[in-house]
Amino acid sequence: MQQLQDTIEKMLSRELNLGGRASFNYNALSQVKKKEMTIDGLNVRLHFNPARVASVMAKVDEKTLRERKCFLCPDGLESMQQSHLWKCSGDTEYFLRVNPFPIFERHFTISTAVHKRQEMKGHLSDMLEFAALLPAYDIFYNGPKCGASAPDHMHFQACPKDSLPVQKASDRALSPLSEDGHDFLSPLFPGIYRINGYVRGAYLLVSSTGDRMEKLFSFLMEARAAAGYGRSMELSASRIFWEGDRRIEDEWEPRMNVLSWRDGFSAEFRTIVYFREESRPACFFEEDPQKRILISPASVEMSGIAIVSSADSFEKLDAGILSSVMKEVSLSEDKCAVVESFIQGHKTFE
Ligand SMILES: [Zn+2]
Repeated sequence: MQQLQDTIEKMLSRELNLGGRASFNYNALSQVKKKEMTIDGLNVRLHFNPARVASVMAKVDEKTLRERKCFLCPDGLESMQQSHLWKCSGDTEYFLRVNPFPIFERHFTISTAVHKRQEMKGHLSDMLEFAALLPAYDIFYNGPKCGASAPDHMHFQACPKDSLPVQKASDRALSPLSEDGHDFLSPLFPGIYRINGYVRGAYLLVSSTGDRMEKLFSFLMEARAAAGYGRSMELSASRIFWEGDRRIEDEWEPRMNVLSWRDGFSAEFRTIVYFREESRPACFFEEDPQKRILISPASVEMSGIAIVSSADSFEKLDAGILSSVMKEVSLSEDKCAVVESFIQGHKTFE
């Protein structure tokens, strides 16, 4: 059962022994400066990780994407990068690789063998399959405007289980032995909980089977559609500068980050969907360098680890600022209310 997990962990050791870019960047992880803080009762961390600059500052407008070589396609790989091909039961093939710009000591990318746009539709069952095949990992997905630095190539990532504060707190709150954490989750529907505090518009789906997880996920997408996409799909001047002139029609799914794992004790599938309003917070685009903070929230940030690649942003960010950044990029309060009343207005979704 853990064959795939063993295979990719061996691939990581092999690549680290080659002494190239990956070994340099994984060694550098021990130098990453960290700050701990508590936001709404959750212990979150801030990492100063200079090697992540390409992701934090990634330009993902159409022109940039068209003119660069895709780094998830075989042609765009560095010579020392290894790949392991895996075919999911739905027949889609993926390459598993060591993430060359790690946040975690074990950090992998899982990208489709063919170059196709970043989109959840048709890929959730694969994500759940990887969650089952890699029991020591969380699998995550960053939507095209929600931190993905390759929005043109469908991919997931895998990080060690229990690294992410929100995943850990969710498991703790669901544990029958848990005495705390009852404020962390509010039940909305059988198998659907709202995650309270730190971010808004975050929903935890719980299911003992993959099939039911897919139904819960579609139901949640319907609830999100009921709230309309509105302002989140309008482009501000700063976005036009940073993200080219993509029109609203170019967004093909609600802005979201998704995190999936399989709980080792209950064997349940657990999936968190973080609905998003903004791609990046206003402080990212601030003209006054004194006020500018370079942070690009993605699944890892939404889950309680914020990554910055500049020393200045690391110094400036405190619990108060980080908390307001996370709320700013999360789904608006009004839309959350519509999503939740849609969910609670249904007795069943079948
Ligand atoms: Zn590609």
